[in-house]
Amino acid sequence: MALSTYRKKRDFTRTPEPAGVEGRRVTTRGFVVQRHRARRLHYDFRLELDGVLVSWAVPKGPTLDAKARRGAYHVEDHPLGYAGFEGVIPAGQYGGGDVIVWDNGTGEPRETNDPAASLAAGELHFDLYGVKLRGRFALIRTKGDDWLLLHKNDEHAVAGWNAEDHPLSVLSGRTNDDVRAGRFPAVSQDSLSALDVLGHGGIWEVFGRPLRVTNLDKILFPGRDGEEPITKREFLRYTAQLAPTLVPYL
Ligand code: MN
Repeated sequence: MALSTYRKKRDFTRTPEPAGVEGRRVTTRGFVVQRHRARRLHYDFRLELDGVLVSWAVPKGPTLDAKARRGAYHVEDHPLGYAGFEGVIPAGQYGGGDVIVWDNGTGEPRETNDPAASLAAGELHFDLYGVKLRGRFALIRTKGDDWLLLHKNDEHAVAGWNAEDHPLSVLSGRTNDDVRAGRFPAVSQDSLSALDVLGHGGIWEVFGRPLRVTNLDKILFPGRDGEEPITKREFLRYTAQLAPTLVPYL
């Protein structure tokens, strides 16, 4: 098969074209927020739309506080592949500094069948289903490339919620300082204790993100010669403790 045919096929499988107005994608499949310590700290807020990440720089970061309005500066689109970027951009390069994936998840535009047209008109409402960001948000253009990002007053709104109080990467549990230092922090004692008190399963908060775990008392390795058997809970505890050492080699 010719490479070009293969590529076409791959592209098709990766981004199926949903039913939409004039073939335009009508759903926002995902979003990502990166905490970026460049010359000035900001959060890059990116919505997937029409195969790119439409992007805003938000100096104070997004918030769940329905009374707050965050200034957001519209910047250039980024390729979808950038959504997983976490690392250090060398000093002297554009955007030099450290970047973590501060939040990500899926999203859905609301009150519109054509989010691209809504953005062009300067107002888009959408729901986010992230690790940190949940509920109804709006982006509203005030002037030129200046926008406001705000959270509606819904059941996910939290008064006084500040992005800076939630500093861990949802990909790796690292802070910007960890990323800059090339450091992978040890799993916290709180995480290990939380695993111990979970029953047969549930949501385990580990490395900054919730992980659904099941059948924790299942025996994975039977004990030999009078040794205790190893349960899934013990195996998870062991891998979490090992991860900071192993991950840098992957
Ligand atoms: Mn940036």
